[in-house]
Amino acid sequence: MHSNQNLLGRFAPSPTGPLHMGSLIAAVASYCDIKQKGGRWHVRIDDLDPPRTAVNACTSILQTLEAHGLISDLPIIYQSQRITAYRDALNQLMSYAFFCTCSRKQLEHFPIYPGTCRNNKERLENTSIRLSVGEQKLACHDLVLGTQEHELGKVFGDFVIQRKDGLTSYNLATAVDDAQEITHVIRGQDLYPTTPIQLLIMQRLKLSPPTYGHIPVLTYGDGRKLSKQTLAPAIDNGLATSNLIKVFTYLGMPVPNTDEWTVEQLLQWGIGNWDLSKVPSKLRPYSA
Ligand code: GLU
Ligand code: ZN
Repeated sequence: MHSNQNLLGRFAPSPTGPLHMGSLIAAVASYCDIKQKGGRWHVRIDDLDPPRTAVNACTSILQTLEAHGLISDLPIIYQSQRITAYRDALNQLMSYAFFCTCSRKQLEHFPIYPGTCRNNKERLENTSIRLSVGEQKLACHDLVLGTQEHELGKVFGDFVIQRKDGLTSYNLATAVDDAQEITHVIRGQDLYPTTPIQLLIMQRLKLSPPTYGHIPVLTYGDGRKLSKQTLAPAIDNGLATSNLIKVFTYLGMPVPNTDEWTVEQLLQWGIGNWDLSKVPSKLRPYSA
């Protein structure tokens, strides 16, 4: 495998709780995908939202990644330390943006933002800032889902880039952090709907987008996604090798002769055998 230092993949967990099997699958997939291309892998902690950030979650996530051999090739980035970059981006976007005074209640019956405040160009306190999407059509090229065109104005409407509480929105922060250096974003299909929004932000900031591949998400038998809300069990670091074997099995890569393989051997095997096109279009349901 030749090295290709220009390629950079990433895993970007929100520290809202420990990793579960679903998040470990996303981590391993992004890791094997970029490593197979000879690229580097980066961990970013999406900790912009203090109320949702669990104190010990960061440590726990990083310990779990390490126990599974998933080590960031670059210093870990914390979104909470990138406020200046997001502020700069916001300033550049202001010609397309407006101040929105609508309350949640006022908007609750609209499927998408009705455009009420579109002409508020004067800075107002305690408002959110929205980006006007206009009539724009945007094509998303996805390694798994193919190319799909989205009419942003019809599907999403003008979306929030800075929240009322002054926090940068997930989409703005993620667009800024995934553009330029990151070349490959492999993540769960639950995040696919955010992609056209993030692409529009990158386009307006004149930043080059990464290549995307959205893999199916792990669900219970009843179709609910594994998450903190659905009480997905935390990964047990003491079972790292069997966890990795499970991850590969979910990803359609049954590991042969697994007796006595180490974490490192399993990851090497995973890198060597990685094939995004072989990931099943639906993962078999989670079982503990
Ligand atoms: N941090 C977010 C999450 O964990 C999004 C990550 C991403 O864009 O890959 O859901
Ligand atoms: Zn409004």
